[in-house]
Amino acid sequence: MRYIDMKEFHTVTTKQTMRMKTLLIACMSAAMMTGCATESTTQSGAVGADRKQFMIVSEEDAQRAGSAQYAQLKQQAAARGALNSDKKQYDRLVAIANNIIPQTAVFRSDALSWKWEISLFNSDEINAFCMPGGKIGVYSGLINKLKLTDDEIAVVMGHEIAHALREHSREQMSQALGQQAIFAGLSILTGMNATQLDVLQQAATVGLTLPHSRKDEREADRIGLELAARAGFNPRAGISVWNKMLAADGSGPPQFLSTHPAPESRIQDMEALMPIVMPLYEDTIKNKGHRNHR
Ligand SMILES: [Zn+2]
Repeated sequence: MRYIDMKEFHTVTTKQTMRMKTLLIACMSAAMMTGCATESTTQSGAVGADRKQFMIVSEEDAQRAGSAQYAQLKQQAAARGALNSDKKQYDRLVAIANNIIPQTAVFRSDALSWKWEISLFNSDEINAFCMPGGKIGVYSGLINKLKLTDDEIAVVMGHEIAHALREHSREQMSQALGQQAIFAGLSILTGMNATQLDVLQQAATVGLTLPHSRKDEREADRIGLELAARAGFNPRAGISVWNKMLAADGSGPPQFLSTHPAPESRIQDMEALMPIVMPLYEDTIKNKGHRNHR
């Protein structure tokens, strides 16, 4: 799930532009020398997410771009009094996130040292996201319109966090940059021009603003269910939250669903994962004692 208005994301700063210039030269050199660059961002977990990913943008650059956009979104929301203005709901989100974040180590231990942040945006939108490096955003419309339980919020949050763990945005930036580099061709080696710098900015924008691919969504569903289950939230909520989204407003599914896998097939996939994730949930509950769910 992710849809961020392009209007809200302007261009990167001049300093970043210079960094990107360096980046593009480095990327082109690497791509030309090695042909391609693949890596695995995470361990596969119990759910088995182990696809190799094409990466030519560095993790550091992706996190920097994500942090810049996150800061801008927070600033804009704060200016209209719409940032973390509902303390009760904000505290609820923090409590859920604090249970989930330690579980990320199952997939990648370095995530524990990320500078995690969570923000509640007061907005009618049914949306949530987690940007590179653990910058979580939840729109109040998601919680209020769908009347989500803690379990359901946890499954959505787990899904969004999974996108960040798997670095889907960095992958999208890399793909965008790779495509643009083909157009730019060898002229890149003879010097940069304004158009090529625009191309780099566009790649970062694409990675942060376009909807995730279907393949990424399925991966995020798998990892997200495991994160929620290990954190002691009932993963069956993944199915109920999808049914609620489909019924949202009676005006059809939210906009971001239009590019996502068919909800019916996602629900089927989640059902198939229950024998794997339910025991993880049950173990956590047994060890921690019962959680008070809403
Ligand atoms: Zn998603």
